[in-house]
Amino acid sequence: MTAKLIDGNALSSTLRGQLADRAAVLKAKGITPCLAVILVGEDPASAVYVRNKVAGCEKTGIRSIKDVYPADVEPIVVLARIAELNADPDVHGILVQLPLPPQFDEDAVLEAISPEKDVDGFHAENVGALMQGKPRFIPCTPYGVMKMLESEGVKLAGAEAVIVGRSNIVGKPMAMLLLAQSCTVTVCHSRSRDLAFHTKRADILVAAVGRPRMITGDMVKPGAVVIDVGINRLPADQGGKLCGDVDMDSVKEVASLLTPVPGGVGPMTITMLLTNTLESAERCVR
Ligand code: NDP
Repeated sequence: MTAKLIDGNALSSTLRGQLADRAAVLKAKGITPCLAVILVGEDPASAVYVRNKVAGCEKTGIRSIKDVYPADVEPIVVLARIAELNADPDVHGILVQLPLPPQFDEDAVLEAISPEKDVDGFHAENVGALMQGKPRFIPCTPYGVMKMLESEGVKLAGAEAVIVGRSNIVGKPMAMLLLAQSCTVTVCHSRSRDLAFHTKRADILVAAVGRPRMITGDMVKPGAVVIDVGINRLPADQGGKLCGDVDMDSVKEVASLLTPVPGGVGPMTITMLLTNTLESAERCVR
């Protein structure tokens, strides 16, 4: 079997076209959707993510505000700016690019963002709403994965779903979303015994670990749907390219559907951020 690749760029482009139409409808009603992005420090990966988010906004008809602070900024300055953005009725989404420098309490920063503008879906109130099956904003990466599964018509009810990784931004919300679709969900992590025992049972396998090519073909059930969330930069002596947590060469011979890295989940994450921003702006006219 050679797996079909799920093209995240193509799906993103279709969805972003629909978002642009929705943004135009809002503008006709006098509302310009607006996302504010806060970047602290000079981490190159974070700078690229922010640049891509701002570019995504521009192409979709969403206004963006980008605030950049030096790495040694006092947290109170950033918190004051968040308060200002919370109070601004023309701003519909606020995100703070993570990670933050060590002087910051990340949780306190995320909690400072108004839950009504928390388009990353990381505020405790929004995490709770997701747990209760009444999401306000769904965290963007798992939301993008659900859209990919939906676009391929993957049958979810009753399926065995195994997620490797239990972070607050990917693994845990992914588990909640698959559970809400009636999958039987297993979440694995660094202390799980016999990882392959679990992964081999998966009809849907989501890898969100951050370890290059750790999921190999012998760990995958024939015909499984394999979603690779990982983004890893290989060392220069191995080519310096981006790769996922899934060993594409061996897994594509076993799986039925597979997301590539790059060009899989990555572009969908930004698309869902734009979706959440637009949704937030649309709530202003309801
Ligand atoms: P974290 O580092 O927060 O979490 C990694 C998880 O993997 C942890 O739960 C950890 O377990 C688990 N883990 C580590 N080693 C093993 C192992 N040997 N076996 C099983 N589980 C293990 O990472 P994130 O969730 O933030 O990100 C995961 C990956 O996804 C990264 O490569 C990141 O770059 C990428 N990413 C991609 C996005 C996209 O848009 N495509 C968006 C966000 C992230 P434990 O909890 O026990 O430590």
